Amino acid sequence: MSDQQVPLIAAIEMGGTKIVCGIGTGPHDIRATHRIDTTTPEETLEATSRWLSRAKTEHGQFAAIGIGSFGPLDLNPKSEGYGLITTTPKPNWQQTDVVTFFKNRFRVPIGFDTDVNAAVLAEYLWGAGQGMDPLIYITVGTGVGGGVLVNGQLVHGAMHPEIGHLVVPPPTNSAAVQRECQCPYHKSCVEGYVCGPAIAKRWGVRADMLPMDHPAWEEIADVMGHALMNLCLTLSPKRIILGGGVMAQPQLIPLIRGRLIHHLNGYLLIPQVGRDIDSFVVSPGLGSRSGLLGSIALGRMAFDQTQNAHS
Ligand code: ADP
Ligand code: ZN
Repeated sequence: MSDQQVPLIAAIEMGGTKIVCGIGTGPHDIRATHRIDTTTPEETLEATSRWLSRAKTEHGQFAAIGIGSFGPLDLNPKSEGYGLITTTPKPNWQQTDVVTFFKNRFRVPIGFDTDVNAAVLAEYLWGAGQGMDPLIYITVGTGVGGGVLVNGQLVHGAMHPEIGHLVVPPPTNSAAVQRECQCPYHKSCVEGYVCGPAIAKRWGVRADMLPMDHPAWEEIADVMGHALMNLCLTLSPKRIILGGGVMAQPQLIPLIRGRLIHHLNGYLLIPQVGRDIDSFVVSPGLGSRSGLLGSIALGRMAFDQTQNAHS
């Protein structure tokens, strides 16, 4: 089926700093996009709704809305709190009912999932994860998050994956760092060591200003190597995609591959953590577009589900 024959979807990528909205059918057919600063829930959702209404006037009625959001989220359709952003540390956003807001405004099916589940879905459909199932997408940016796809389905159940808070040993040769995990919840978790703000706090310099040969990158790779090892051992992924602002450092992925192999210490005798490591741990194929495109895919899935329910 060509992109032209598939339904028009409105997509909302909800981030802690900005919201990116779009309208289109897929990666080759995004008809418009728009950026909105994330302020209070009322102001932000209202501005998003206004843009969607305008997009509808200009580009036609959309068949569904897909939302990939920062979390944590309630994704259990049987729960009373389905569709809410729940315990987020982001001020004013706790218990924000995103799905009901857009459902009441637009009366179309709504697909709702984490921003990183949206990203893993887009990479699976159109990016660097095609044919790779199980597939993991991790973003290292303002925070650290991960989306997981298994058997063609995004993983969630009682909760959703929170890969950023996997507990890892402090980076090798760095006793001082042990006291410097920046996560308010955990003493030694991935996000607390390697998210952009944690790097800046530890080294006193913005992550993007650190030179390529700075020892920070070795430490970050060490932590990420442990996280990836734990993921290999629990989820048996066929590929792991690493995106987000911090991963824009080109030296980081090769360092992380090396630390993954080092930490596994010969335990897994598979080519993915041997001669094929370069195609096992990779950069996103869709660059920074995976969140928005994934939200289109979430909307499409919600639309298909209602079609199937009626047929
Ligand atoms: P967000 O996580 O807010 O969606 P990003 O993925 O762009 O946004 O992550 C922003 C973080 O990434 C910031 O902490 C910033 O310092 C860091 N960052 C952005 N670009 C780079 C870079 N080239 N190298 C290292 N860190 C970077
Ligand atoms: Zn944590």
